[in-house]
Parts: sequence; structure tokens; C-alpha cells
Amino acid sequence: MVVGASAAGLLAAIFAARAGARVVAFETRAKPGAKIRVSGGGRCNLLPGEVSPADYHTSGSPRRLRNILLSWPLEEVRAFFEVELGIPLKREPTGKLFPVSERPLDVVEALLRESEQRGVELRTGTRVTEIDRRNAGFVVAPTGTGAVEAQRVVLATGGLSLPKTGSDGTGFALARALGHDIVPTFPVLVPLTSSDATWAALAGISVAATVRVRDEGALVMERTGSFLFTHRGFSGPVVLDVSRAAHPRAVVEVHWGGAETPWPDLLRTPGPLSVGRVLRDALPRRLAERLLARAGVPAERRTAELRRAERRALETELVACRLPIDGNEGYRTAEATGGGIPLADVQTKSLESRITPGLHFAGEMLDVDGRIGGYNFLWAFVTGRRAGRAAGLRALAANG
Ligand SMILES: Cc1cc2nc3c(=O)[nH]c(=O)nc-3n(C[C@H](O)[C@H](O)[C@H](O)COP(=O)(O)OP(=O)(O)OC[C@H]3O[C@@H](n4cnc5c(N)ncnc54)[C@H](O)[C@@H]3O)c2cc1C
Repeated sequence: MVVGASAAGLLAAIFAARAGARVVAFETRAKPGAKIRVSGGGRCNLLPGEVSPADYHTSGSPRRLRNILLSWPLEEVRAFFEVELGIPLKREPTGKLFPVSERPLDVVEALLRESEQRGVELRTGTRVTEIDRRNAGFVVAPTGTGAVEAQRVVLATGGLSLPKTGSDGTGFALARALGHDIVPTFPVLVPLTSSDATWAALAGISVAATVRVRDEGALVMERTGSFLFTHRGFSGPVVLDVSRAAHPRAVVEVHWGGAETPWPDLLRTPGPLSVGRVLRDALPRRLAERLLARAGVPAERRTAELRRAERRALETELVACRLPIDGNEGYRTAEATGGGIPLADVQTKSLESRITPGLHFAGEMLDVDGRIGGYNFLWAFVTGRRAGRAAGLRALAANG
């Protein structure tokens, strides 16, 4: 029995069925894989080009994370999609892997085809509201149909991010009712908010940037990528990536254009060049104007004529511009969930609960979240396969 039919749940169902078990999968939504359908800006960033445990966070043991993550090597995951499911992937310059078709629906349809061919019974539009222990197994109560008995249950209900896709936290309630503690959850890969209207005036502008987060002076995270101004604050891949570290007491600084843009040298360009021109050559015009205004430097000032205090103020705005952050947009727009089922409470090899034998976990429910770039799907696929296969094999073994 699998609860939740998205990235982790569909993999769990396929691999439990491939192991020979009879599998029923319940999914609240009428259409499975809602989050795959909206992923990667509508293009589905299915996998990263490379992976290391350092691309993930957990409050638990890094060793456990590593053992689970590397149990299905990235090349094999890629081959599963390309060769077994027939979805060719392409690698973009950022290193991210997308379907050549750039159609998330191709991924969902291929997963559904494979699960159907393996005999998975998919019950969509059905929400599981209760799971009780019964003898050596479970009784699962879904909405709309009678209770179902199962020897094993894989919970793959996702976290709390983007709840309109179906992941509304019921899975955590089900796990709690079965004796599990949950590491406190919080939104990650989430846009940051700011009430400073002067930045909001730049909404819609996108620019390359290096963003650094400092906590009590120490650098805790640094990422480079695309930065986007919004009406509510700041977004874009680079902002989402640092969001888990950007709590209200942290300092968030930006090096506009990316850390390799040598602003101090550019501001010393010899000749009759104005600073306005230097900035506009590398940055969107309105951002350049805003930074000059913040530094109190007239755009027409020639680089050679910059006063010492002006030069210092402008360099600070360009390489360590402090952003006023109030908070974040929350689960409503977050791409993932921090916290969840502690890794210490599951067996590494089977993802079976140490508290409720027979219950397995997969995907975003677990206390692991990845950076932007296909890492969260990879985690969902690796854990879905691991939990599904173990549940399937153990259900068969119990049947003799
Ligand atoms: C806008 C957006 C874009 C993203 N883009 C990417 C990307 O390009 N690449 C990437 O790697 N990651 C991306 N992610 C993250 C990725 O989508 C998730 O990490 C991944 O989908 C988690 O898989 P999951 O199966 O664990 O959970 P989910 O995909 O959330 O699936 C859980 C499923 O369980 C169902 N469910 C919940 N409760 C119940 C219940 N009680 N009974 C029955 N069913 C239930 C839900 O309806 C849902 O279908 C994105 C996320 C968002 C929000």
C-alpha cells in the first residue's frame, strides 16, 4: 500500500510491484503527480547533473543521508528515466537535467504507464485519513471507499510546500498517530519578503548575483545564480537556494553581477567613462540607478573623479549590498519543506520505521531537503525506490 502518488509515491509503487507485491496506491488529487506537473518553471528539472551529500540538509546524521542518497547512483536513476521509461534528458549549461521535450506531463505519463504495466492499482481522488495497526499489518481508511488491509504501508505524502498540489501535512498527522515525532517543519526554497518599497519598484528585473548569508558575522551560505526582484521582495533560484539560512536575524548581502564581476577594478577604468555607464554595462539600468542613488553618487561622475567616500559607498552597494529581509512567503509558494520524519527513526536500508514496523517513508516527508536544481526529485526517486522495494520484498516474504 502506498499513500501519495507523486515523485516518491509512484516510484515506491513501481518498485514494490516490480518486487512482486500487490500494490494499491492512494492519491488525494484526481490527477497524480501534481508537483511534477508544475516543476522547474513548467519544464521539469528532473535531475541534477551531479550530486553530492553536500547538496542536501538534514538535522539528522549526515552519514545516514549519504548512505540513502548514494544507494541509487545518479547515472542509474538517469538510465531508469531515459532507457526504461523512454524519456530522453538534456543537460543545460547550469548542469541541470530536463526532459528533451521540456514537458513535465511526459514524466508523469511515463511513470503512470510503468505503474499500470506493473499492475499497480491507483485510486485517485481518495485521501487516506486514518491508518491503524491490525495484527501484523495495517487497516487504511481512505475517503470515499471502504477500509483496506495492508501488510505494509509506504507513506509518501510529501511535506507542506505548495499545499494546493495535495501535500497539506496529513501525512505528518498519520505518522504522529502511529507514534512518530516530527522534526519541526519550515518552508525552504522560498522567496524572501521585504517591506522596503524602494526595492519593490524594481519588480520583474532579473540579474545574475552572488548572495551571501551571514549569521553573527560568520558566512553561513553563499550561492551564485539568477536573482529576481518581486513586488513582495526577492526571488529567483539564487534567493530560493539561500532562503533556508536567511532567518530574520541573518544578514543577506548581494554581489551584483556575480562574485566574478570585479567592481573595484571596473570603477578604476581609466578614461572619460562615467560610473553610470560602467554600472549600466553590467547591470539592468534601473538597478544601476538605484544602487547609485543608495551610494549617493551622481551617474555622470567620471570613474577617475570618484571621491574616496563615494568609491567606498559604491563598492559596498555593488559587492555587499545588504537586503532588508522581513521573512519569507511561507509554504504557499515554497518548493520544499525543511524538517520532517527524523532519519534516526527509519532503517537506512529499507526506510522502515523503527517505531512502527511495517511502515515505510519516502520523499519530502523525511527530514532532508535539497538545493535547487533537481536535487529534491532525486531524493524523492531514490527514497521512493528504496522504500517501495523493501516493502514489496518484505510483504512477499511474509506471505511465504
Ligand atoms: C513550484 C515547484 C516547483 C518545483 N520544481 C522542482 C524541480 O524542477 N526539480 C526538483 O527536483 N524539485 C522541484 N520541486 C520540489 C519537488 O516537487 C518535491 O520535492 C517533490 O515533488 C517531492 O515528492 P514527494 O512525492 O515526496 O511529495 P509530493 O510531490 O508533494 O507528493 C505527495 C503526494 O501525496 C498526496 N497526498 C498527500 N496526503 C495524502 C493523503 N492523506 N492521502 C492520499 N494522498 C495524499 C498529494 O496529493 C501528493 O500528490 C518543486 C516544487 C514546487 C512546489
